Amino acid sequence: MIDQPYVYRHRELAEPDWRRLPGWADVTPQEWASAQWQRAHCIKNVRQLHQVVGDGLAESFYADLQRDQAQRATMSMLVPPQMINTMAPAVPADHPGFTAAFYADPVRRYMIPVFSDRRADWPSHPKASRDSLHEAEMWAVEGLTHRYPTKVLAELLPTCPQYCGHCTRMDLVGNPTPLVDKHKFELGRDDRLSAMLAYLRSDAGVRDVVVSGGDVANMPWPRLESFVAALLEIPNIRDIRLATKALMGLPQYWLTDEVRAGMERLASLARQRNVSIAIHTHVNSAQSVTPLVADAAKAMLATGIRDVRNQGVLLRGTNDSSGQLLDLCFALLDDAKIMPYYFYMCDMIPNSEHWRLSLAEAQQLQHDIMGYLPGFATPRFICDVPYVGKRWVHQAARYDRERGISYWTKNYRTGVESGDALALQREYEYYDPIYLLPEGGQEYWRRAAQPVAAAG
Ligand code: SF4
Repeated sequence: MIDQPYVYRHRELAEPDWRRLPGWADVTPQEWASAQWQRAHCIKNVRQLHQVVGDGLAESFYADLQRDQAQRATMSMLVPPQMINTMAPAVPADHPGFTAAFYADPVRRYMIPVFSDRRADWPSHPKASRDSLHEAEMWAVEGLTHRYPTKVLAELLPTCPQYCGHCTRMDLVGNPTPLVDKHKFELGRDDRLSAMLAYLRSDAGVRDVVVSGGDVANMPWPRLESFVAALLEIPNIRDIRLATKALMGLPQYWLTDEVRAGMERLASLARQRNVSIAIHTHVNSAQSVTPLVADAAKAMLATGIRDVRNQGVLLRGTNDSSGQLLDLCFALLDDAKIMPYYFYMCDMIPNSEHWRLSLAEAQQLQHDIMGYLPGFATPRFICDVPYVGKRWVHQAARYDRERGISYWTKNYRTGVESGDALALQREYEYYDPIYLLPEGGQEYWRRAAQPVAAAG
């Protein structure tokens, strides 16, 4: 047998036993399978985590988490039991090694970030910002980002059943944290959705709508169904993608009778209209793909929708090796029938430097996963460049590795550049984490970050 950098083995999916966690020792399989039970038992604070996990997790971890919540977190805490249960699954909660395993866990690293995870030297890049993709600037109507010529993003609601520490929409999504007041929609939900539909009816150039949030799993099903049905009435719309991390974080929701029956109605309508509906989910680690997640994905495919695809995020400590990424892609593809589609570089939001990879690292990872997966299931690694949009990591026009600045061009105008004659000739910048740069580059950013001395 030839020695290979990655050796494929089919791995059976496994649902870890939640009864190993002291707070859920008596939870029945019926309760666990209930979306309502899962929502009611989400972990929202340090006290609740302690009640579930108990004293097996060292007091210093809880203090580390508390400090992060107070000083660094851009997202409030909300973790469904389904996700907690996939953290440190192989180590009993009363084992002396549990704290170390919990600290090191890939899912914990992004769902329950702690202060000591973050960079002390550069917690944020000087160019980091709220709404780093400038989506709100490109709202055609409130919540509807028109960034690309033929496709739009509809942010239906600002909540999710789970909050990820690295959320790119930290500006809008979730509850306020001590550090971040969230942007509030001005229009009420129904007025906002009506305005979106009116805009889409008026622009025959839009053929593709990403229905997102937040997470569509937090929209009451009848309201989501009526919105998607209204989209299906618009003749130019050919693709509809529903964005829900909850397919993994709360698969119980997508397995409810109400949602399955509703999706069947939408899929049937879509077939009659020759429109494709797909679900896009967000899974970052192989251990998150459990039998329940596979059941939910297959239940959705059985309704007749076109596909279930995964858009993960590259995160240091979670999936920063080609082996972890290939394990994830095979777990998605083999038994859950979820198509690996994209891996995004983590966006430049505040306090995200410890998660972010450099462009060079992302390029290397793209290189290293090629050739193992079928071509149709080989994900593209994507840099979402502010004011440009998604670009394959190998498409940078120039790359200054000393200062960690990559330069990108584009071939269409976004909504904010309609009168900008130079928009397609300009180069747009993206920045690597500073602590990864050679000393000369770090010195450049130290000088750049210094406040300019007052004149006179
Ligand atoms: S599910 Fe998506 S929108 Fe919600 S917190 Fe996570 S990354 Fe943000």
